[in-house]
Amino acid sequence: MAKVHNWQIGRSMAYPYEQATPERQFAFVININRCLGCQTCTMACKSTWTFSKGQEYMWWTNVETKPFGGYPQGWDVKALDLLQKANPDGLTWDGRMDADPKSKAPYGSLEGNTIFESEKAKSESGHVLGYLPSEDEWRYPNIYEDTPPGRERGQPMAFDKEGVRLPEHKSWFFYLARLCNHCSYPACLAACPRKAIYKRPEDGIVLIDQEECRGYRKCVEACPYKKSMYRPTTRVSEKCIACYPRVEGKDPGSEGIPLETRCMSACIGQIRLQGLVELNADGSWKEDPENPLYYMVKVAKVALPLYPQFGTSPNGYYIPPRWVARPYLRQMFGPGVDAAIEKYRNPDRELLSVLQLFRRSNRIIFKYKVEKGPKVYERKINDKVFTMFDDTITAFGKDGKPIFTTKVEEPVVVRPEKHANSI
Ligand code: SF4
Ligand code: SF4
Ligand code: SF4
Repeated sequence: MAKVHNWQIGRSMAYPYEQATPERQFAFVININRCLGCQTCTMACKSTWTFSKGQEYMWWTNVETKPFGGYPQGWDVKALDLLQKANPDGLTWDGRMDADPKSKAPYGSLEGNTIFESEKAKSESGHVLGYLPSEDEWRYPNIYEDTPPGRERGQPMAFDKEGVRLPEHKSWFFYLARLCNHCSYPACLAACPRKAIYKRPEDGIVLIDQEECRGYRKCVEACPYKKSMYRPTTRVSEKCIACYPRVEGKDPGSEGIPLETRCMSACIGQIRLQGLVELNADGSWKEDPENPLYYMVKVAKVALPLYPQFGTSPNGYYIPPRWVARPYLRQMFGPGVDAAIEKYRNPDRELLSVLQLFRRSNRIIFKYKVEKGPKVYERKINDKVFTMFDDTITAFGKDGKPIFTTKVEEPVVVRPEKHANSI
């Protein structure tokens, strides 16, 4: 096994292949706090890529209700269980969080075996711990929708006396929107005996070569997020392709300009932002403070990777939901959760500006600039003084040209009197 650097777990890690870092990496941030569970993203992907025979159960992007929902059912519980068995003494973070954006271990270092490292993983054919979901588990993509954890035995309902209040609700659920993470160390790629899966050097998008795949389903078994899927009609596996024609600017109508993916562009809640980040040779992110993804992940640290302990270095990042039981969130997003929620609850001027960039345009934002505006609001919130400035934010595309300009304060539009009562 080769050694690669995994900055999300703050150390080098065993992986079947040598480090091969793409020039840029496809990445995205999803703000869970504002997801409506409307499934528009789900349908945007379905109606674009997986509407044919044999793809009936394929949902490359899906939105599941946590804690009980899952597609396939129980995917995360099962993956965590395998990891637990591979680490009988537990899997722990050393607690040395580092605020420096250039840090090689921003969340500290993970002690214990990832899915590539245990003795059991070494004995598996693809060197990856995994399991193959049953057909039944794939069958109900939105099972347990809107279902919160129940009351504890003998306890009154969580809502009884206090109602719901922040920072944490006693009864909670949230929508987890998921797609392939186009991981830096993909488990699907590691496990494929045909070497049919590859990571593109230009943007880090992970694809399955449909000619080379023989449908052994080793990728389905290995991907801890279960985002590689088998198609019985063609007898090969398929997965999210990151809408690469759009990212390349080759989608009809894009006029050569890189566009965000279908599931990002369609998001009604305006909670998804996708882009490309530049990488160093060891896979860490190049310093690029004007890139909104770099700002949210590395500087503000408000967006965190999903289950970093698996070890694949996923490139999907989430702003964790602030009302949810913290131990659950720490297990899901690692030790950065408390600081990320604190930051989101008390956003500073820069973060408020960056959050305005979500879904103002379909074009990929490569840089942003903030122009300072007047103070428009001040109030004590959560025992802290919150001040809002009406700053102006401009987003720039790959060619350095402005894509749009927006402001922190939403404009008030007064309907003209003659249309006052009509829609
Ligand atoms: S999420 Fe799964 S399918 Fe996607 S790149 Fe990572 S390991 Fe592969
Ligand atoms: S990026 Fe494209 S292919 Fe992947 S889940 Fe989203 S819409 Fe589907
Ligand atoms: S479209 Fe956006 S708001 Fe609606 S479910 Fe998907 S991620 Fe959530």
